[in-house]
Amino acid sequence: MTKTKLSDLLLEWYRLHGRDLPWRVKGGAHPDPYVILVSEFMLQQTTVKTVIPYFTRFMARFPNIQTLAKAGEEEVYAYWQGLGYYTRARSLHQTAQMIMKDFGGIFPQKKEDVLKLKGIGEYTVASFLSLAYNQPEPVIDGNVIRIICRMYGWVEPVDKIMPEIRKKALELQSLEHPADYASAIMDLGAMVCTPKKPQCLLCPWQNFCVSKGREDIEKIPNKTKIGKKEKFGFVYVIQNKKQEIFIRKRTEKGLLSGLYELPWCDEGKLFVGKKVVETGKSVTHIFTHIKLNLQICLIEDEHPNFDGFFVSADKLSDYPFSTLMKKVLTKIQ
Ligand code: SF4
Repeated sequence: MTKTKLSDLLLEWYRLHGRDLPWRVKGGAHPDPYVILVSEFMLQQTTVKTVIPYFTRFMARFPNIQTLAKAGEEEVYAYWQGLGYYTRARSLHQTAQMIMKDFGGIFPQKKEDVLKLKGIGEYTVASFLSLAYNQPEPVIDGNVIRIICRMYGWVEPVDKIMPEIRKKALELQSLEHPADYASAIMDLGAMVCTPKKPQCLLCPWQNFCVSKGREDIEKIPNKTKIGKKEKFGFVYVIQNKKQEIFIRKRTEKGLLSGLYELPWCDEGKLFVGKKVVETGKSVTHIFTHIKLNLQICLIEDEHPNFDGFFVSADKLSDYPFSTLMKKVLTKIQ
């Protein structure tokens, strides 16, 4: 079976069974690269099902790159609230501003230019150029890795065989219909060659897949576990005499930048010599590289030694908080 035949089979299946999604057109590139840009940012580390309502709301408020570039950071965060990973919202906002300022409002189409934008790595650049401009860039994510490893029976740890997977992804790709092919292989991974219980009998590649019917198919691909570093710290609910709660805005750089939070630390203690009450409650949150455990502490203080301000409990929802801080606020309510 030639690779052309394989991609033709997949494209035929996609035309019949591919998902209709709000950011998708079938039969070529999407006419509006902004739609692809927003959806690609939202889909990073988030499922299609979760993204759909956020995407619809976001596009209704920021229907084009100009509107988004002009919007204030806090409003963009407010429309992102609940999707998590706020650095993506910030990068998308900055990318919109860069496109307006550095590219005269015209979306870049060269890989090296797209890579200059904020928050865009190899995966996003490939899917953006495929879906927005029909360029044959190999899109390699967990779905594609799973399908290729199963098709060819590759059981070695993925980390070790990434160059081979990349080469195969490039070989399989349709040069005639890159946008549809990128969407098709994503749908195959999401709908048929799923991590658990793949539906091999519905698969357009079943006659060419060496893993079809394998009892241990769910073990492919072989994912090398990357251990997360665990950190332990404290988060402080500082109250004044009016029972207001002290919040602060994170600085512009680093994790969760631009969002509001209660003061916290992941090592040592922020308050020495003050009466701190440990509540016995804690929150745990998993970031990309670390697992963070924070003990919740109460403290009374009229003038905390931080930049920030007090707000009444009923006004807390006016401020964008990270998922981690929302967990803390839920625990102390
Ligand atoms: S035949 Fe089964 S295992 Fe092979 S690619 Fe299709 S769904 Fe995946």
